[in-house]
Parts: sequence; C-alpha cells; structure tokens
Amino acid sequence: MLSVSKMTKPTKFCLSNDCNRWVQLGTGSHTLNSTQTDYCSIYCRLYTEQKLKKIPVPDTLGRKNMRFPPIERCCDSCGETLELKWDDHFSNRCFCNRDCHFKMRRDKSVRKPELRYQILRLMRDHPKDVWNVHEIADMMDKSNNRYRVNWRVISQVIKALSVVERVEPSVYRLKPEGYTGPLLRFVVRNGS
Ligand SMILES: [Zn+2]
Ligand SMILES: [Zn+2]
Repeated sequence: MLSVSKMTKPTKFCLSNDCNRWVQLGTGSHTLNSTQTDYCSIYCRLYTEQKLKKIPVPDTLGRKNMRFPPIERCCDSCGETLELKWDDHFSNRCFCNRDCHFKMRRDKSVRKPELRYQILRLMRDHPKDVWNVHEIADMMDKSNNRYRVNWRVISQVIKALSVVERVEPSVYRLKPEGYTGPLLRFVVRNGS
C-alpha cells in the first residue's frame, strides 16, 4: 500500500553537542538526511568526530558571532573539494552542483545508477561497516518517501558493485578504497 507520507517521525536530538536539530531520515527532512541515525547530518557526524568548535565570524558591524565552520569533503562526481555547512541543505551535500549530481543520476552505462550510488553513500557515510541487505533496504525505505525499496533489488544491485565485498551471504562491506575519492567512479562503467 502506498502511504502518503513515509517520513519517519523524529524521536531524538542530534548527537552533536552544538546542534539542536532532530535526527530525521527522509528526502522531506530539513537536512535531506539519508545516511545518519545518530546525527541530523553527515556535517554533524564529522564535526563531532573531528572535535571541531564553532568559530567567531564578524558581521557587518564587526560583532563576532559564533558560527559552525565549513568542513571540506570531495564531490562524489568530479572529485573537486566542496564545503559542507551546518545550514540545512548544505549539511548533507555530496555534489558541487547540479551538473555533477545529474552526471550520476543520468548515467546510462549501468542500470539504476542512483540506487547504486545511494547504497555506496550509505555504507560510506554511516558509522556501521558491515551491512545486511535488509538493513540497507530498511534505511533506504525510511529515507525515501516516493517509492518503496525492496531488499531483493538491493541484493541484486549490490552484487554488481566491485567496491563492495561479501562478508557472508547477504552481508556486505565497503572496501577501503570506497572511503576516499568520488563514489561515481564505482557506480558507472569506465568511471575510474
Ligand atoms: Zn546536527
Ligand atoms: Zn563536482
């Protein structure tokens, strides 16, 4: 049955001490979070793990306001450096611009490029390192309010990903090379 809104109800606050947002999964959430279950965003996970602090930024009147510092990571498409910011939509940013995003979404060299990418991004950005296909499907289902995600489809697609290795039947982990550089090279054919 199709539900009108599958967005998960927020039940806890972001684990970052300096953040006051809810942890919420879903394309309809403020931060577009689809990978974090303890933090509101990948920004807050990195901010906490890297023990970052807010920095004073002078405003036009010279008063210093405490602001979240930008965090650098690489674009998942072209590999250029981009800035993650605490601000809503920038806190889960993975591409430097729309072109880079569409390059992944519209790739024709493989089937379901977006799903391939989402699996890899979840495995990379979530702290958990070993994943059962049911857990992946469950996370994706909660993050996506437009369509249902079936574990059988995940099972099929994940087998085609060379950067993922099988630990035991239906259980997978991302290989070390998946944690650095743009993920697009593992999604499309001739990507590297
Ligand atoms: Zn947060
Ligand atoms: Zn880019």
